[in-house]
Amino acid sequence: MPSRKFADGEVVMGRWPGSVLYYEVQVTSYDDVAHLYTVKYKDGTELALKESDIRSQSSFKPRKSQSSSSSPSRRSSSRSRSRSRSPGRPAKGRRRSASQSREHKDDKKKTMQETSLALPVLVLFKPSENNTKRYNGEPESTEKNATSCIILEQKLKPDLEIKRVLEQYSLRPRKDDKKKEEIYSEKKTFVAVKPIEKVSTKTKELEFGGRIGIFMLILLLPATVFYLLLMCKQDDPSLLNFPPLPALESLWDWRVFGVCLLWFFLQAAFYLLPVGKVVEGLPLSSGRKLQYRINGFYAFILTAAAIGVLLYFEFELHYLYDHLMQFAVSAAAFALALSIYLYVRSLKAPEEELAPSGNSGYFIYDFFTGHELNPRIGSFDLKYFCELRPGLIGWVVINLAMLLAEMKIHNLSVPSLSMILVNSFQLLYVADALWNEEAVLTTMDITHDGFGFMLAFGDLVWVPFVYSLQAFYLVGHPITITWPVAAAITVLNCIGYYIFRSANSQKNNFRRNPADPKLANLKFIPTATGKGLLVTGWWGFVRHPNYLGDIIMALAWSLPCGFNHILPYFYVIYFICLLVHREARDEHHCKQKYGLAWERYCQRVPYRIFPYIY
Ligand code: NDP
Repeated sequence: MPSRKFADGEVVMGRWPGSVLYYEVQVTSYDDVAHLYTVKYKDGTELALKESDIRSQSSFKPRKSQSSSSSPSRRSSSRSRSRSRSPGRPAKGRRRSASQSREHKDDKKKTMQETSLALPVLVLFKPSENNTKRYNGEPESTEKNATSCIILEQKLKPDLEIKRVLEQYSLRPRKDDKKKEEIYSEKKTFVAVKPIEKVSTKTKELEFGGRIGIFMLILLLPATVFYLLLMCKQDDPSLLNFPPLPALESLWDWRVFGVCLLWFFLQAAFYLLPVGKVVEGLPLSSGRKLQYRINGFYAFILTAAAIGVLLYFEFELHYLYDHLMQFAVSAAAFALALSIYLYVRSLKAPEEELAPSGNSGYFIYDFFTGHELNPRIGSFDLKYFCELRPGLIGWVVINLAMLLAEMKIHNLSVPSLSMILVNSFQLLYVADALWNEEAVLTTMDITHDGFGFMLAFGDLVWVPFVYSLQAFYLVGHPITITWPVAAAITVLNCIGYYIFRSANSQKNNFRRNPADPKLANLKFIPTATGKGLLVTGWWGFVRHPNYLGDIIMALAWSLPCGFNHILPYFYVIYFICLLVHREARDEHHCKQKYGLAWERYCQRVPYRIFPYIY
């Protein structure tokens, strides 16, 4: 049985639960049974930590050469650097007794001067003359210029930060506790703090209405798709005119299913082509970065060429229109099978590869939200692939099929103006997403959500079959719009697109390279994680400017369908609900990630999506 590494009274560095920050702490006792150290922070807070969350102070000695790393583990001595990448994995030979650590007191003083609880320091970029300025919680000093500020020193207001973490981990600081002796007696300390180990990787807060909400969603999402498609086929698609249910056997066609499989594997083959650059994603919680090939736009061009060849050989693309419901059923069956596969394989995934949002331990919840964060087969990233290719490109192909179906059914030599607008706007959206494929790597879907039924169904069924609803609607319900109206709708779409694109690019560029000279005029609030929060530019206008642009575009896609029915407006109504809910989820995550800095950001930028409204 291994003996304890750290002695009572020894001053060491303790990891703050749920973060990568280390603070100076003093070991007060050790629980032989639980193998937990009780440590005391400088402000009096006592927590129990695992040995792997404790480091000797000497491992935080700064290297002479300047480092751009913000990870405490990277600041370990060069001799043990390769073995101690993970903060939780101290290198061998680092065991120190209390007397040994006292020998390094002078060194420690220098090293530790910025690592007390009140003043954790994050070395982010290259040093500059600004490096002595501290973030003291005052608005003027919280904002940094994107290129002028190079070392950020972050002072978190300890009481707020502690409160946040303790609330998250259901713990209470000893100094605030009236019955401290009672609660922190040896045995009770163990009972009180034991959850740290377990809850730190488990999803505690269930989203989407918990298990019941998720169960309803699993039924409701496919039902909505089929309802919308059935409605669109009706002569009178009024909401109250409920469509008759089709015969079950008419919903399945093996040939259609075969075409779906062919489509999926064709896109997979394009994804595997060794063309396009390979980039790194954002660091995972382990610090590791995954690599992604950026060749979505090539896949789009190749698909366009393949469709061109099919049309040249007079393949009837409106086959898609005739069998749209069967395609949707096949895609749903495929998405379900994929989700089951993803869930089963996730059961064997290591703990650190599980999604922060999909690790509740409840089958239905984890199945829906996605248990594994980045499921891969070799270098083939299933989530990243599904996010932008089969569904998104499929959406454009379905739109094109609707355009051809309209011409054929209504015997037109050119498509209607409404159909042209809908097709062009949505083509621009998809082409833009694929052109800027790299930007998807900083989105919530990639960085936070696991890959489960929610994303599989969303990417492979919801996007292609619900987002093409306007084009589908126009085939059966033609609308004539005038040129001035078309021009006004186009202007609206351009405004939406401009906001959407520039906001996304601004954030993406800032996340990838905050020192980019193009961002020199932007200001940001530094945060304890090392990332800044933009407070000028689009992200100073509202807290989710990209959602605003997206919603404006959604409206522009529905307007060409006229005002006879609400059905083509389903997209914009649903999309507002989706983005309002998504925004709330994102706010919640950001509050957890950034604490006080996020609150300051919210004070500075009070509106979430719609300026002066919401
Ligand atoms: P965002 O791209 O808006 O990313 C949100 C993240 O941005 C936050 O978690 C935070 O992450 C970072 N962030 C927030 N505020 C700031 C700030 N002030 N400065 C710098 N970074 C900040 O979220 P989504 O992934 O939801 O959306 C991406 C795009 O996809 C949007 O344009 C959205 O409209 C679109 N979308 C489209 C859908 C569709 O069906 N058509 C569905 C969903 C989204 P961190 O700090 O960790 O970097």
